[in-house]
Amino acid sequence: MNTAYIGLGANLNNPIAQLTSAVKQLSEHLSIEVLECSKVYDSDPVGPAQPNYTNAALKISTELSPPELLTVLQTVENDHGRVRIERWGARTLDLDLLLFNNQVIQSDFLTVPHPRLHERNFVVFPLLDIDNNLALPDGTPLNLLKKNLGNAGLRQLDNISLLNF
Ligand code: ATP
Ligand code: MG
Ligand code: MG
Repeated sequence: MNTAYIGLGANLNNPIAQLTSAVKQLSEHLSIEVLECSKVYDSDPVGPAQPNYTNAALKISTELSPPELLTVLQTVENDHGRVRIERWGARTLDLDLLLFNNQVIQSDFLTVPHPRLHERNFVVFPLLDIDNNLALPDGTPLNLLKKNLGNAGLRQLDNISLLNF
């Protein structure tokens, strides 16, 4: 059995509903068990001008391999109307594979840990909600990344759960 962390993001068509629905769809997958969900955040967009993002992270247990899991994540994105127009443009749903056990993966279509994890407070803060002792495979504590990144452009949303389904 593998432990993986998924980053969730959305900034179109009721983002909180998109994220809730995505968590539900993942929890219904026969080879995935949703273990924990982070707090939910509002974050300033990076890249082209677009609405703010809603972000969170999920801890799952799965029998799937990393490529199989990525395929499932892309299927869920597509089921939520994800359309790929411009890089880093607005989207109904983004599901990124952040961490997979302590594995380092480098292929044409999959890099783990997620290559931009360390530069994104909207990824690091939610991961630490789930496990305050989390570290990268090279041993870097996520708390060190958090300290370096700060919370610029990131706001925690109170009283919102993505597990209300
Ligand atoms: P970013 O990667 O900066 O978060 P994005 O999430 O908008 O940008 P996508 O359009 O969702 O990027 O994905 C582009 C490609 O990234 C996908 O086709 C996928 O093959 C590749 N990819 C590589 N590593 C990962 C990963 N860890 N999680 C998700 N996709 C990945
Ligand atoms: Mg992404
Ligand atoms: Mg993505």
